[in-house]
Amino acid sequence: MQELCKELKQSVEGKRNELRQLADYIWENPETAFKEVKACAAQVALLKKAGFEVATPVYEQPTAYRVEVGEGNPVFCIAAEYDALPEVGHGCGHNLICTASIAAFIAATAYMKAHGIPGKLVLLGTPAEESGSGKVRMLAKGCLDGVDAVMMLHPGWRTSNDTGSTAIRRFDVEFHGKAAHAAGMPEDGINALDAVHLLFDGVNCYRQQMPEFTRIHGIVTNGGAAPNIIPEKASARFFLRSNDEAWEDKLEERFKKMVEGAALMTGATYTLTPFSISCQSRMPNGPMNAAFVSAAELVGLNPVVETKAGRGSSDFGNFSHACPGVHCYFGISEKKIPGHSIEMAEAAHSDYGFENTLRGAVAMAAVAIRFMQDGDFRAKVVADFKENSPC
Ligand SMILES: [Zn+2]
Ligand SMILES: [Zn+2]
Repeated sequence: MQELCKELKQSVEGKRNELRQLADYIWENPETAFKEVKACAAQVALLKKAGFEVATPVYEQPTAYRVEVGEGNPVFCIAAEYDALPEVGHGCGHNLICTASIAAFIAATAYMKAHGIPGKLVLLGTPAEESGSGKVRMLAKGCLDGVDAVMMLHPGWRTSNDTGSTAIRRFDVEFHGKAAHAAGMPEDGINALDAVHLLFDGVNCYRQQMPEFTRIHGIVTNGGAAPNIIPEKASARFFLRSNDEAWEDKLEERFKKMVEGAALMTGATYTLTPFSISCQSRMPNGPMNAAFVSAAELVGLNPVVETKAGRGSSDFGNFSHACPGVHCYFGISEKKIPGHSIEMAEAAHSDYGFENTLRGAVAMAAVAIRFMQDGDFRAKVVADFKENSPC
């Protein structure tokens, strides 16, 4: 393993300057879901310059790409993300995700060629993780057909294993009432905003009966036009999350009853529409997780083995249900900082963050090579997937 990491590191170091330019360029040009035109073009240009044939657009996504090297089996896929957030730019550090993925792909493919290892490595550029569920859309078009395992790394404040993520369903609710002068003739109105209030009250009461691995949270997206008008329309957006897919069904059923109840209590009517595409919970592959932690130790990332289940959500969840998958973390900060923050955006543009991106790339490439070379490891990966898959 030590020799393997040493050789992979040499490949990554050979591309250090181009990788730094890529990470900085994408950070300086943050593009939100489905608009990652510059980010996609920059990655494609780097890969073509490195001698790869790149297919883009793919799977009906204008800012997605795919590269594959080698033939036959096994097939290992590395996924890349590069979308930004509104207001905080790369506050989730996706500029470093694609940099690590490309670096790992370059190193792993060079190693396979140098050592005559059979099988195929795939690099998938996947847009719109933060909103839009790009991977779910690509999966529906067959992006993981024939793939035996898939992996990616995500920046975090520290390096750790993957402890999963919650499934997510998102809803927009609009209540329809009747406008009237709020002081002059309030008795003629039907207050749609009251229904929104009551829905929040219902959700807040329900929280006491919700298990720890679930979350419901919402915002008011329209609270009316003016205080002197009984709001004719009012609306809210809610996210329903759970690590347990069965509980996701329960949350949805209960939430719909609360919407109905709020409408009944106020005399309003409502429309309930899904916002974006739902994502499944993430099912981390045990042997791949352990292999990453070992490799991360070797490359100096000082990984911690986290046991608390993850509470965020990711479209990688659906990837991890389609084939064995893992989404581990590499640390880009010397102190604890929150995700989706200005601090995380700054870390994603720091020397410390970039150095650990390269270390993460070597560790991920080492897991890929182990999967390609070691039949026992592959069998364990598949057995773990079959044991934990609810399908
Ligand atoms: Zn994020
Ligand atoms: Zn992210």
